[in-house]
Amino acid sequence: MENTLCIIKPDAVKNGHIEDINKKIEASGIEIIKSKRLTLQKDTAEEFYAEHSERPFFSELVDFMTSGDCVIQILQGDDVIARYRELMGATNPNEAVDGTLRKLFASSLGENAVHGSDSKQSAEREIAIMKNLF
Ligand code: ATP
Ligand code: MG
Repeated sequence: MENTLCIIKPDAVKNGHIEDINKKIEASGIEIIKSKRLTLQKDTAEEFYAEHSERPFFSELVDFMTSGDCVIQILQGDDVIARYRELMGATNPNEAVDGTLRKLFASSLGENAVHGSDSKQSAEREIAIMKNLF
């Protein structure tokens, strides 16, 4: 059994996709064990995406992630890190496979509806950053 961190990003929350996204997650056999709707503080978003701090899109990414409510969730299941990344689809929704969350619900590379941890190490780090918010 494994855990991963999922974020339903502000674009998907504003567009009313929370329930549709969570139905797809549960339909794929993944369990949502914690869920909290909140607006991220700037310092939390900066720490969360620290690996991208030198990239040209970093300030845009942090502004977007703090622009409105997100839903922060911990997902659980066998091999859930890889399985949830597959369900999310490619970072750029134009490259995402049909039926994936980003193909269905994302509008652009910058505003791409959902986040998921990309490794066991990232999942542990990200859950540690978010765990006192629940
Ligand atoms: P996430 O970490 O949000 O799950 P990801 O792991 O698929 O996404 P990363 O490479 O970690 O992709 O990028 C983090 C986020 O930064 C992306 O989800 C996207 O919103 C944004 N991003 C990545 N590359 C670009 C880019 N070239 N231009 C603008 N935004 C970008
Ligand atoms: Mg990432």
